[in-house]
Amino acid sequence: MENAQILRLDKTGYPIEWLTAQDACSLLVNEKVVWAFGENATVLKGGFNRDGLQSELEIPAIIATHGRAKIIADVPPLSNRMLFRRDRHMCLYCGNTFKANELTRDHIIPQSKGGRSTWKNLVACCKSCNNAKRDRTPEEAGMPLLAVPFVPSRHEYLYLSNHYILADQMQMLKSGIRKDLIRAA
Ligand SMILES: [Zn+2]
Repeated sequence: MENAQILRLDKTGYPIEWLTAQDACSLLVNEKVVWAFGENATVLKGGFNRDGLQSELEIPAIIATHGRAKIIADVPPLSNRMLFRRDRHMCLYCGNTFKANELTRDHIIPQSKGGRSTWKNLVACCKSCNNAKRDRTPEEAGMPLLAVPFVPSRHEYLYLSNHYILADQMQMLKSGIRKDLIRAA
């Protein structure tokens, strides 16, 4: 597949990151890969030899490299894009779904009251709900949240950050992803 990304795991099978095929290729040729798994995600073309034949390297969908992932303090970076994907582009106050450019990030506890910009204090919110809520908590505004915001796990973050996940890669990530997140994405 064109532009397929390669899932990198540590040698225990814990997911680390998405790699470009080129990055995966250099890990392979430098013998940094402990094991590989899955269908071939892509084929990289290399140089031509003296007979005019071009070398090819098949890049597997999943590679595991030496070492163990640092799981401590594993809070994925927060952006509006990822926040809206976590909330499935749904306003967590009215329950309607919107395009990304129609959504805002709402601080559940307003910043003016000490609320911070964290995964657990931010939700996707449509513009009209944001206007209605103003500088108030959900309780003060009488606008209860429809879901509890969560910090995405590593599996969930990797899932949310890639639109083109191959079947074998999904198989690897699935165990660490909330079911309702998978169905809707
Ligand atoms: Zn709304």
